[in-house]
Amino acid sequence: MLMTRERRSAFRTRRGWAISVLQEAGAIRECEEHGWLQDRADPHARERAFDVARQDPPAGVSPQAAAVAIAEVLDSMGDNCPECPAE
Ligand SMILES: [Zn+2]
Repeated sequence: MLMTRERRSAFRTRRGWAISVLQEAGAIRECEEHGWLQDRADPHARERAFDVARQDPPAGVSPQAAAVAIAEVLDSMGDNCPECPAE
């Protein structure tokens, strides 16, 4: 049996790629206690993430589709960890 496993990309999904770009840019962060990803609502960090998406999209993904993937992750994310007590 031929087991096909996509190993060329470090990221299994476009969403996974977008999350890593956003984390590197500082646009999102992970709650240290619970691991939830949170939108930091930093417009400059977001802009950096979109720049990366347009200039260095994952293999086989157009710059536009990469930017859409970034936007989708931001849309899906809250700016608070749902498990942390509100301050
Ligand atoms: Zn938390």
